[in-house]
Amino acid sequence: RTVYVDGSYVAEQDAKVSVFDRGFLFADGVYEVCSVLESKVVDFDGHMRRLRRSTAELDMGLPWTDEALLEIHRELIRRNDLTEGLVYLQLTRGNPGDRDFDFPAADTGPTLVLFTQTKSLLESRTGRDGIRVATQPDWRWMRRDIKTVQLLYPSMAKMAAKAAGADDAWMVEDGLVTEGASNNAWMLSHDGVLVTRELSSAILPGITRAAVMAIAEVLSLRVEERAFSVEEAKQAKECFVTSATSFVTPVIALDGVPIGDGMPGEVAMKLRAAYIEESRRRAI
Ligand code: PMP
Repeated sequence: RTVYVDGSYVAEQDAKVSVFDRGFLFADGVYEVCSVLESKVVDFDGHMRRLRRSTAELDMGLPWTDEALLEIHRELIRRNDLTEGLVYLQLTRGNPGDRDFDFPAADTGPTLVLFTQTKSLLESRTGRDGIRVATQPDWRWMRRDIKTVQLLYPSMAKMAAKAAGADDAWMVEDGLVTEGASNNAWMLSHDGVLVTRELSSAILPGITRAAVMAIAEVLSLRVEERAFSVEEAKQAKECFVTSATSFVTPVIALDGVPIGDGMPGEVAMKLRAAYIEESRRRAI
């Protein structure tokens, strides 16, 4: 597989980043993941807007245009013959030469790495059968709106959820669901209202979340942006999660309690189909 690192396309075994890179030493970096369908990038503009926001919030430079970044995405897709999967992009504050808490002078330059991963997105077991989730305390930092590479806690939460017999974690703060380990959390109330937490520094502003909100409007489904409790979700008609690589994935159980009839929800599956159709149409 060919990867992109610091201006070059190289074989993955030849790709190298300094041990002094702040991404490695301080998790001082941000990332984006775009899904790829029929060799085209889904929601590229949305992901690049969020990348620019993440870097701005961290006083990190981003000396590439969207066009230049799209070109790298396309070149990697082409070189790796990728038809379905994802492109991962990571930008770190780079290598200042010494380990130091101070941000280095801007002229050090960031480190940009991109790679592709083949993944079956359209036909996935989880997309068809749904997932079980288990709650975990949200012990991440308080700027979850920035998409940083500090993913140790979400990774631990997912492992704990798996140890509890589930597939993934929903993180909870003050009794309210924040989001999944790597997705946004949704429920459908018995009176037919879709509920997903409002944007704030408590959650990541999901690009798929925004796309699904737009689709819900077209389908005349009501959406309420507000926090919901674990108890409310357990009694919901349906629950599901959204993310770039899982699209819309039904949640069939929460902490061992079946959601609805314990089968993938009708509305979730309808949103999944509509999201896939729209993404295929709009991919570039
Ligand atoms: N929340 C978290 C914590 C995530 O890691 C992700 C996936 N990167 C999402 C939500 C979903 O965001 P998106 O729809 O942009 O993939």
